[in-house]
Amino acid sequence: MAHVPLQDLHAAADARQSGSEPLACFEDALAEALVKWFKPNFFKWVDPIKCPVCSQPMENKGHVSPTPEERAGGGHRVELYECETGDGGTSRFPRYNDLRVLMKSRVGRCGEFANVFTLMLRAVGLRARYVWNAEDHVWFYYSPGLGRWVHLDSCENARDEHMLYDRGWGKKMSYVLAFSTDGVRDVSRAYIQDWDGALQRRTRIPEAELTRALEAVTARRRFGRAPDELARLEAEDVAEAEWLRTAAAQSNAENLEGRQSGTTEWIEQRGEDGGSS
Ligand SMILES: [Zn+2]
Repeated sequence: MAHVPLQDLHAAADARQSGSEPLACFEDALAEALVKWFKPNFFKWVDPIKCPVCSQPMENKGHVSPTPEERAGGGHRVELYECETGDGGTSRFPRYNDLRVLMKSRVGRCGEFANVFTLMLRAVGLRARYVWNAEDHVWFYYSPGLGRWVHLDSCENARDEHMLYDRGWGKKMSYVLAFSTDGVRDVSRAYIQDWDGALQRRTRIPEAELTRALEAVTARRRFGRAPDELARLEAEDVAEAEWLRTAAAQSNAENLEGRQSGTTEWIEQRGEDGGSS
């Protein structure tokens, strides 16, 4: 992980903790320093794709098959772009999953950001979760000395703003699942204020069946762990269940903004500008 300026991040976290408004613990400050550094300095958001000839934003022409080289890098889906001005400019955007490729290319949208940022969190010594949302934005948590998992979004430079998508963007979400080596948890309730409304959208699987499936995955991942570790994880589960029950209602959502990543047109198309459309 030679790319990560660990010393600078630690120095920034130390400065935060010895300043006038320290966070709850050093891990919090380190995560904050990492999320502030990541997008401006390391990973580039690629939208829109610009024409290599005239530099104008290009039109997305849909998906094409990857070349052998793209496939070797794990790019199974390739977006094709063409310039509308007729200058012949085209570009391909392979959506890579392979972390080694992403660490070199350092470009992507939400999916790539999430993959690489989860790796970064683990690289600086924080516990990370990969969070999947059925409506396609993905983000992540880390575990601080706060005694709970905290929301962190490297696309939006946001920390501990779990109502950002529901209240800030006006996004209608259904399922939000958090994955880690310790199992998978349904954390949807922390992200959705109108839970009755969410239940109407949660039609993919009966609720009891989903609960059983997640418990089965978690049990498999924890199989063979030491008793004291299992006890610690179960205590975390109980504390999280309690937090999930009240998190959405307690969130201070007054200062949340519309989506920051992507162009204005793209955000409006997706209805994520915070408007009521
Ligand atoms: Zn062009």
